Amino acid sequence: MITTPELIEKRTAFLPFALPDIGDEELAEMAEAVASGWITTGPKTRAFEAAFAEFVGAKYAIAVNSCTAALHLALEAIGLKAGDEVITTPYTFAATAEVIRYFDARPVFVDVEPDTLNLRADLLEDVITDRTRAIIPIHIAGLAADLDAIYAVAERHNLVVIDDAAHSFPATYKGRMIGSESAFTCFSFYATKTITTGEGGMLCTNDEAWAERCRIMALHGISKDAWKRYTAEGSWYYEIIAPGYKYNMTDIAAAMGLVQLRKAEAMSARRLHIAERYHAVFGPSAALEIPADRADCRHAWHLYMLRLHLDQLRIDRAAFVGELKARNIGTSVHFIPLHLHPYYRDLYHFEPEDFPVSYREFQREISLPIYSKMTDEDVDDVIAAVLDVVDQYRA
Ligand SMILES: *Cc1c(COP(=O)(O)O)cnc(C)c1O
Repeated sequence: MITTPELIEKRTAFLPFALPDIGDEELAEMAEAVASGWITTGPKTRAFEAAFAEFVGAKYAIAVNSCTAALHLALEAIGLKAGDEVITTPYTFAATAEVIRYFDARPVFVDVEPDTLNLRADLLEDVITDRTRAIIPIHIAGLAADLDAIYAVAERHNLVVIDDAAHSFPATYKGRMIGSESAFTCFSFYATKTITTGEGGMLCTNDEAWAERCRIMALHGISKDAWKRYTAEGSWYYEIIAPGYKYNMTDIAAAMGLVQLRKAEAMSARRLHIAERYHAVFGPSAALEIPADRADCRHAWHLYMLRLHLDQLRIDRAAFVGELKARNIGTSVHFIPLHLHPYYRDLYHFEPEDFPVSYREFQREISLPIYSKMTDEDVDDVIAAVLDVVDQYRA
């Protein structure tokens, strides 16, 4: 190990923006799945679904191979049709809106709150038409959107609320678990998310008919799944009732998920601890704005979305990212608003200023590493690097 003081000052190894926290327990559980001979959807997946449903307080949880698949299945279950409209925000990842386009339906964007970067519920009424079918709020970074306000509008106009909860496990809104009460809640277990299965997702709902439809469509539109077909109690007979998809989770992935779920509280506590250390140091800096939090919500801290006060700095966000990289700190940017991307820009003739808050906040956002595998020294290094860049480039 290199321990000379000159070299400790600056990190000698690059700190990745995100890393999964996978240990021997996950490997053992996955090995067990492989050794059992049942590697695709089976008992581990059923156990993961049951444990997850209980954790979030959902009646039904359907394990799938991505959050994108879960979002797609939810829209399929409500019978979304070409020409229908679904309201969401441009301040999100590709998945949220592409699933709407799968149906040749229209994503209708509303801008976000400047502090939380979540959907502005007070803008919903302005964009609702007789083609509107659903609202997809994103709980960005892990902080819940204003669900009560969204539910109120949804109820008035008979719209379905589908949470994009890719960032928000485990999280609460006014003491209620995310996943327990929206018509559908879609979680992600992608490699960088708060718990991971490599690739994976979970679709939660309290509606039996919707759950049944999603389960069928997640596996070829077949009326019985393979697990039941090939066990002693099952039979060879099945029926295809619709052209479904291939969205099922494997037992190898579910084995990882089962262990990650058991570690979720500990990993979440570690993320919160890192967030609090960042708040304490960055909060007082005139050049930095720390992410919003709400006293009545539990934040999952999937992301630490720092924002720069660009008028206090001589460099822009891109240069700030470069300076951190030069100090061996990996960062990311969340998100390039969807209306700026060529596909949506050209299809709907968007201008950057059509969603001014999304456009403005994106330009000064920088996401710092925040994950349970980070050591206290890693956190120290991020803090030192950010403060050093601020010092060096203060306006
Ligand atoms: C990661 C992410 C998704 C997609 O999750 P996958 O499991 O990769 O499909 C959807 N929405 C948001 C906001 C995300 O960050």
